[in-house]
Amino acid sequence: MTATRISSRVGAVSPSATLAVDARAKALRAEGEDVIGFGAGEPDFPTPEHIVAAAEAACRDPRNHKYTPTSGLPELKEAIAAKTLRDSGLRVSASQVLVTNGGKHAIANTFATLCDPGDEVLVPAPYWTSYPEAIRLAGGVPVAVPTGVESGFRTTVEQLDQALTHRTKVLLFVSPSNPTGAVYPRRDIELIGRWAARRGLWVVADEIYEHLVYGLAEHCSMPVVVPDIADRCVVVNGVAKTYAMTGWRVGWMIGPADVIAAASNLQSHETSNVANISQRAALAAVEGDLRAVGEMRAAFDRRRQTITSMLNEIVGVDCLEPEGAFYVFPSVSGLLGREFRGRRPSTSAELAELAIDEAKVAVVPGEAFGAPGYFRMSYALGDDHLVEGMSRLAKLFG
Ligand code: GLU
Repeated sequence: MTATRISSRVGAVSPSATLAVDARAKALRAEGEDVIGFGAGEPDFPTPEHIVAAAEAACRDPRNHKYTPTSGLPELKEAIAAKTLRDSGLRVSASQVLVTNGGKHAIANTFATLCDPGDEVLVPAPYWTSYPEAIRLAGGVPVAVPTGVESGFRTTVEQLDQALTHRTKVLLFVSPSNPTGAVYPRRDIELIGRWAARRGLWVVADEIYEHLVYGLAEHCSMPVVVPDIADRCVVVNGVAKTYAMTGWRVGWMIGPADVIAAASNLQSHETSNVANISQRAALAAVEGDLRAVGEMRAAFDRRRQTITSMLNEIVGVDCLEPEGAFYVFPSVSGLLGREFRGRRPSTSAELAELAIDEAKVAVVPGEAFGAPGYFRMSYALGDDHLVEGMSRLAKLFG
């Protein structure tokens, strides 16, 4: 038998659609095209000055030129534990923290540490594009639990119960949600958390958008609302979204000490410690106050309202006002099958192609999130760009 050049495990991985759309937009821009990017979720703000200054100083300190413990700088782990208590009320020790190369790496580590081959992970859909791949790479089986507009893209205990089998090990719980912007109220979190505890499931709670909630919505952390789940819960978080630090690549996972120790062993062979300069920057971020995110939240809130109303003005588009994160998830099914500029897109993927080709507007099609018929649009771009991009879409689809 001839061996394949690429392993079947890695050969089955598709490229990240969010990063692919972002890369295409940036490449077109480099060629001089005037592209408006609603693709990747990346704040348009620069990282706050005191964080950058801490990184600059760190470069000059020879201690940061050497390996540090795989699991992270001890003072950063302490600061993450303190920040977690401050922000969500979850009390953890530094030994329960593993610092990772961004939230995405925390997710990959978590599923690699929890899943045996065939273990099923319940993944409410629409879901962020990288979750199923991380689960599959770990040998697990992602089981999508579809939700729709009628429930505000929130799942229920009844739906989860129906998806449960004797192989279910983990529930992935994301609030505020990427890609829909849904935020679960405390009562729902309590019901879902208690259900998971009763069923003996693990919960992976992705809280990367914890500070980006609007209006009356509030972020609640599942292991705080349901302490019974804490011994089988991993919380994923990072500095990217709260402090506009996507490029610094610092995230973390928080969980029971045995899970963190095992994940740390794994990371010791994979990547070792996260770059010290980034860790020092993250330390300045989490030790500091939340003023910068307060300012960004006010801007996102304004953009959220603008984009939702501009989307709903387009006939054939239907958009719920999101309560968190910085994404809208409009249904575009009313546009499918219609003719625009000589083309007749029949899927949201084809419609997204049309938008970039004809209006130079980049969006991520719902197919990437297990929800064809939708677009995901990040509103973490400047107000002027947002209005310009929306005007172009309105003209194209008008
Ligand atoms: N979390 C962001 C997004 O969904 C960053 C890009 C990515 O890594 O997917 O757009």
